Amino acid sequence: MGVHTLKNFVGGEWVTSTSGRAEPVPNPATGDILAYVPLSNREDLDQAVSIAKEAFKTWSKTAVPRRARILFRYQQLLVENWEELARLVTLENGKSYGEAYGEVQRGIECVEFAAGAPTLMMGKQLPDIATNLESGMYRYPIGVVGGITPFNFPMMVPCWMYPLAIACGNTFVLKPSERTPLLANRLAELFKEAGLPDGVLNIVHGGKDIVNGLLEHSDVKAISFVGSQPVAEYVYKTAANHGKRVQALAGAKNHSIVMPDADLDLAINQIINAAFGSAGERCMAASVIVAVGGVAEPFLEKLVQAADEIKIGNGLEEGVFLGPVIRESHKEKTLKYIEIGAEEGASLVRDGRKDVIEDKEGYFVGPTIFDHVKTNMKIWQDEIFAPVLSIVRVDTLDEAIELTNQSEFANGACIYTKDGGNVRKFRDEIDAGMLGVNLGVPAPMAFFPFSGWKNSFYGDLHANGSDGVEFYTRKKMITTRW
Ligand code: NAD
Repeated sequence: MGVHTLKNFVGGEWVTSTSGRAEPVPNPATGDILAYVPLSNREDLDQAVSIAKEAFKTWSKTAVPRRARILFRYQQLLVENWEELARLVTLENGKSYGEAYGEVQRGIECVEFAAGAPTLMMGKQLPDIATNLESGMYRYPIGVVGGITPFNFPMMVPCWMYPLAIACGNTFVLKPSERTPLLANRLAELFKEAGLPDGVLNIVHGGKDIVNGLLEHSDVKAISFVGSQPVAEYVYKTAANHGKRVQALAGAKNHSIVMPDADLDLAINQIINAAFGSAGERCMAASVIVAVGGVAEPFLEKLVQAADEIKIGNGLEEGVFLGPVIRESHKEKTLKYIEIGAEEGASLVRDGRKDVIEDKEGYFVGPTIFDHVKTNMKIWQDEIFAPVLSIVRVDTLDEAIELTNQSEFANGACIYTKDGGNVRKFRDEIDAGMLGVNLGVPAPMAFFPFSGWKNSFYGDLHANGSDGVEFYTRKKMITTRW
């Protein structure tokens, strides 16, 4: 069978984009073209939004337990198709099958949370606000929601958005990353199979034209965005300018502080996974290690040894831990950062360029480690989003916290220590929203908010948890005289 062009999913049907434009979607591990993704136009989008608007009329009035029951069936179908979904994630994104399998789990957890809609959507009442006067707060859906997602979690990030938005009674238009568009279609197909009425979830593939279309469309009432910092800032400002509520989750540069009393074996194990797992293409990846006091030498020795043992290759192969980065251009950009780091005067302790496998067509970069990194270097300041780890040396925990807080990003931060006092100080003084203690990737589960701060997040209400419910509902206050 030849390589096909993906279709949009609109009104429960597969629809060919009218744009006539498409771009290839290569498998990052091999360079083979998996499919072509249509670069849809405004006409395609307008059609999807008007169908979603029409579907809202009945879906928003469908009894909440009925909506929830469809989510329960969807959860079952996702579980039944877990392996196929994980394989698709690896094929289009490149991460190892084990990571992809875990990602599918995180996505399913979002559906499980959303299935609690009857409880999550409850309002509040106070029967006696004055003599014979009662007040109550009721939650209602908001309308058509637009979702825009990145390439690095083709399953989990869309699942932060549409299951909860839909469970709350909204209808949805998703624009998946054009670099990883395949899985989204399968997710929509399975939702239809679970009984979701046509038009409630729609998928329009494409690039920034579709993003701008969603931001400007007067029938789209809210925007959920996840992606890089400049685009997140742009999306936040533009959507707000068009009168929409918006949550925009952005880039990161997560610091991990390693204290002299840390359990080094545990720390290495966690940091190897957090820095090099998913090829460093995680918004919760550890990209800077702050080594405190004398810990740097023994830490570095063990870290390099562990990095040398990492198996690099196609994520579908047994035992592979480190897959490719997403595109050839991203590989080139990463190699450039390695050059810059060396030029800036950091010590290149492990050079991932030497791991580049010549006979492979994929976009591979090996684990790369810089020591003696300083805050005036680009490799400290920028989100590289690749398996490149910087080590900064400081003398005290106070200095480590001060340095971490200088970053413009503040998605997450971690500390490795056995001392409760260190943990308390770290917890209280770090300016970041998601903290890990002796843990590498402190990504909260679906029932808690995904809480980036500073330039890692634009908006007020985070994705997931009770924030997600607040975001996807609006409140009505009813005051009654009896
Ligand atoms: P990206 O910003 O390039 O793309 C994200 C989405 O925005 C895509 O759907 C893309 O089509 C669209 N887009 C890209 N450029 C645009 C433009 N100029 N105008 C309008 N729309 C545009 O991000 P990416 O490379 O796909 O994803 C990686 C980034 O996402 C990293 O920065 C990572 O930290 C971030 N991320 C953050 C979180 C979080 O929770 N904070 C989670 C996952 C990923």
